[in-house]
Amino acid sequence: MVDVALPRPGRHAELAGNLARVRDRLSAACELAGRDATSVTLVAVTKTYPASDVRLLAELGVTDVGENRDQEAAPKTAALAADPTTPPLRWHFIGQLQRNKCRSVAAYADVVQSVDRVGLVRALAAAAGRLRDRPLDVLVQVSLDDAAGRGGVSIGSTDAEYGLWPVVEAIRAESGLRLAGVMAVAPLQQPPGPAFARLADVAAQVRGVVPTAGTVSAGMSADLEAAIANGATHVRIGSALLGNRPTLR
Ligand SMILES: *Cc1c(COP(=O)(O)O)cnc(C)c1O
Repeated sequence: MVDVALPRPGRHAELAGNLARVRDRLSAACELAGRDATSVTLVAVTKTYPASDVRLLAELGVTDVGENRDQEAAPKTAALAADPTTPPLRWHFIGQLQRNKCRSVAAYADVVQSVDRVGLVRALAAAAGRLRDRPLDVLVQVSLDDAAGRGGVSIGSTDAEYGLWPVVEAIRAESGLRLAGVMAVAPLQQPPGPAFARLADVAAQVRGVVPTAGTVSAGMSADLEAAIANGATHVRIGSALLGNRPTLR
């Protein structure tokens, strides 16, 4: 059992300082874009960091948390759920997901941001239908560079399994899932602004079909400003909040 209440000394002040700096960047970016700061939700990406850090962030006012591996997220969410003093959190699953993990993820995630193929839609819907009393929010992960292995549907593709519209339609057909919007990771070796502009265009097209699919999850520690300039409603911030991870993932 992880002791969620025992962070190392000084960690509270460290996270409070990092959070204040990230919030400053978010409000400056919103002001520059002429947007209300309340229109952007900060998702703290806590992968590789302990449950005690998640609890500290929750005490500091963070409401949304992201994890990318089920093996790590399942025990972490369980530890926090078992601690009655942790404020309620909304869990976002943001990593590549295998069908055999859907049952586990559907039990603790409030949002699955990384849905990028029809087979995964079906597996998640089956799990959500069995385990949940209300629909699971999902985002379609969009590839902005069509790089193999990084996840995401291809924007232009009509492929029945991996194309954007087949995945959107598969989600719409499932009563256990609710299409909440789109998500993307900026391409490597390219400026993020134009890529996030392409995502904004896809998001608008999806809203044309599902008007309530208003979430645009884009922007990480290095590129949150470009994401907010291009309409992101959710930014996923890891290293700027928690520190550099030992291994990049
Ligand atoms: C790790 C991760 C993040 C956070 O990245 P940082 O650069 O540490 O802010 C955001 N999104 C996804 C999908 C991730 O895997």
